[in-house]
Order: sequence, then C-alpha cells, then structure tokens
Amino acid sequence: MEDKCGIVGIHCKDESKNVASFVYYCLYALQHRGQESAGIATFNPDKGLNYYCGMGLITDVFRDYEIQNLQGSMAIGHVRYSTTGQSKLENSQPFVTDFDDGFIAMAHNGDIVNSSELRDELIGEGYEFKSDTDSEVICYMLKKEHYDNNKTIIDSIEAVCKKLVGSYALTILVNGELYGVRDPMGIKPLAVAQRGDEYILASETVAFDVINAKYIRDIVPGEVVYFEDDEIKSHMLESAGKCKLSHCMFEYVYFARPDSTIDGINVYQTRMHIGEQLHKLYPIDADFVIPVPDSSIPAAIGYSRASGIPYGEGLIKNRYVGRTFIMPTQEERELAVRLKLNPIKEAIKGKKIILIDDSIVRGTTSKQLLDLVKEAEPEEIHFLVGCPPVVSPCYYGVAMATKKELIAANYSVDEIQDQLDIDSLGYITLPALVDAIGMPKEDLCLGCLNEEYPTELPDDIEAETYYKP
Ligand code: AMP
Repeated sequence: MEDKCGIVGIHCKDESKNVASFVYYCLYALQHRGQESAGIATFNPDKGLNYYCGMGLITDVFRDYEIQNLQGSMAIGHVRYSTTGQSKLENSQPFVTDFDDGFIAMAHNGDIVNSSELRDELIGEGYEFKSDTDSEVICYMLKKEHYDNNKTIIDSIEAVCKKLVGSYALTILVNGELYGVRDPMGIKPLAVAQRGDEYILASETVAFDVINAKYIRDIVPGEVVYFEDDEIKSHMLESAGKCKLSHCMFEYVYFARPDSTIDGINVYQTRMHIGEQLHKLYPIDADFVIPVPDSSIPAAIGYSRASGIPYGEGLIKNRYVGRTFIMPTQEERELAVRLKLNPIKEAIKGKKIILIDDSIVRGTTSKQLLDLVKEAEPEEIHFLVGCPPVVSPCYYGVAMATKKELIAANYSVDEIQDQLDIDSLGYITLPALVDAIGMPKEDLCLGCLNEEYPTELPDDIEAETYYKP
C-alpha cells in the first residue's frame, strides 16, 4: 500500500552544511501531493542518520527544534497522501531501517502492485514488518541483495527493480549517499536540479523554484541517479527503454501544481489546452465561464479565451480549510463543502453559466457543489469536466476509488446529468485530452479511463479511495 506522494532528496558536497530546512521548504511546495504525514531523514558522518516523521501537514509536524536536530548535508523527505485506508504514524515516511553498520532511509511515491507477494516472501525469510508501506518491502529487498549476494548498492537496486511491478519514484539515503530512482515506465515524476554545491531531487519542479534551484532535467524512466565528484552519475536499469512509457495523465489533469513542468510539459499550459478542447467539443452560449477553484482555473481561462465568453469567479475557496473532522452525518458532510467553497450569489443569479471542474471521480463533490451553485439561482448550468469519465480504479498510486464507487463506471453520461439535474454535462474526450497534454497516446497511462493498464495486475488487487470529508 502506497500512494500518490511527494518526495525530495538533497545532496550537498560540503559536509558542514545542514540541508534539512531546504528539504522542508521543498516539501512545503509539494504539500498538495500529500497532507496525511510528513517526514525528513538526514545524514551526517559524525552523527549518522537522523529522522523525524509525524502526522499532518508539514507545518504541523516540524518546528524549529525538529529541523535543528536534523543535521547533515544529505537528506530526503516525504509527504504522504491521505486515503481512507490505514492512516497511522508507522506508515509515514521516510522509512528507516539498519543497513550495514548504519542505516538506510527511503521515500517512495507510487504503488507496487506485487508488493503482497514480495512481502510474503520476505516474511518467509524471517523479516518482520512494522508498516504497510512498499518502502519497507523495497528496503528489505535491498538489504537482502546487498547482504546475501554481496552486491553493491547500484547492483542491489538493479536486482530489486527487476522484481518490482508497479510505479515508483524513490529517493534513497544509504551509507551517506543519495540515490534517485524512477520506474522504467515513468509513471511517477522525478526531476533533478542544482543550487551551488547542492543537487536536489524532487517529484515536481515547483520544489526547485521555491529554493531557487536550477532545474537540470527529468530523471529518465528506468534511470538511477547518484552524485559523485560533483557530478550527476547515471545508471540505466536493464529494463529502461524496453517497456512502454506510461506517464500518469492525472498529474496533468489534477494532481500536480500548475506551475510545475513534468517531462517537458507545463501543467498550467496543459490545463489551458484542456479548456480550449472543451470549447471545441462543447461551444455553449453562456454569460460566464466559472472554474471550480483551484485546479480548474487554467481550464476555465482556456475556455474563456477560446470562446470569448468572459471568465468569472463564481465560487470562492477558503484556502485555509485543512482536514475537517470525520463527519458522520450527511448534514455535517454538506457543511464541509460549504466551508471550502461559497458561491457569489450576486455574480451567478439569473446568469447562464459554464462551470468547469477538473474531474468527476465518485461524483459526491459535484453533487454537493451543484446544490450550492443552484442556491444562487443561475438561469442555466452547463457543467464541463477536464477529464474523461473515470471508469476504472488506479492501481499505481492515485487512490481514486473502487469500481463500485466510480460514478462513470456505473452510470452513463446522460444518467449522471440527470442525477446532477443540470442543463448539460460534457466530459472531455480521450483524444482531446491526449491532444491537450501533447504527448503521444502510447506514452501515457490511461488505465483509469480505458482499462488498459501498463502492467499485469494480481487477481486479488484492491483499489483504494482517497480521503475527503
Ligand atoms: P468526487 O467526484 O466526489 O470523488 O470528487 C472529485 C473531485 O475531487 C475532483 O474534482 C478533484 O478536485 C478531486 N479529486 C479527484 N481525484 C482525486 C484524488 N485521487 N485525490 C484527491 N482528490 C481528488
């Protein structure tokens, strides 16, 4: 069990420097990738490995004291995404365990689909597990290759990756060295940047921007990078270039920050193109184009520019609402949506509006949202969606929902429109989305949209649902 997360790694050749605060700032910029827990591990030759993890937002977990205690010029960090599954401290990362005379620390973004099988093998050999994370499985596999077969770290990583099926972007701190690994299909993003004598690895380029580091390049799918003699060294896994690329489309649609660029494609521009494509598909006559903030703002701007229909803010988001309490009653759950989004009645009343959202997954958000919008009495509501119908779960770390919960897996577009009780509903089509991203269709993972998954899947695999009040 692992999820959509944010990972960071910093290598500084000046051993007298402490880099934990910069990992903190990078994680701060990646907070949208995970709000359940956060952690940092650092390495200093005298003090060895130190780490600190906690539940909640990065600002809840770390204060000055914790950062000051994390000494060292090498560090990794992790923010973990919330799902309805196991939410416990043991699952927070980096995962740390002993290795040789020291320690190994690992931060993982992704989901290993054969991890139960790998875990059972390790349990059979006497390994005892403390968490449910794939990081723990990968760490023990690395230990095993290194100890039993006397392999170097790179050879151990190579041997372990041969056995992993699924998605993984990893930052690993072992024996005072930092490694970055990206799975051969490139499902999860990972890039490298430089700032003075430091190299920085991160899930998204926005993490580089906040510490004023200069983006160098994306890690190539199937590449292991490490740092030596002030240079980036690269080892290509044997599987690199031999399997189909499968970059996750949902990074562009919803997950990544718009100011990030992933595999050469800027997320904001992609979302603007999504809006333009929506206009080509659904040229509706309306008074305003309104985004569901924040992720749909660029798509609404794209639609507005393409159509000439004014862009308008019709919903205001309270940016300071974190996690709300678990809400047992329907009334409380509705309150949660009201806390986050409030329509501007004066802007909507009597108007024909086009409302744009990034995606419909379970459909519960849209229903509550549209109920709110209707209270503001628009004349017409046309709801456009920047992601084609999600008809199947993601098994590679997005934790969307189970098939039973996915509204588009169970109802047609017309039925969904009826349930939402609106004037029209239009989803972007798959070809239009691929056009908007601007990458060949073959290089994308579209499993949740067309059920063509990039790997074999175990029969008993279960999908997870993301947490949302
Ligand atoms: P729902 O249809 O109720 O599942 O909610 C869909 C909305 O939640 C989308 O418009 C996104 O803003 C957001 N969303 C979609 N997928 C995810 C996900 N995997 N994790 C967290 N939020 C998501």
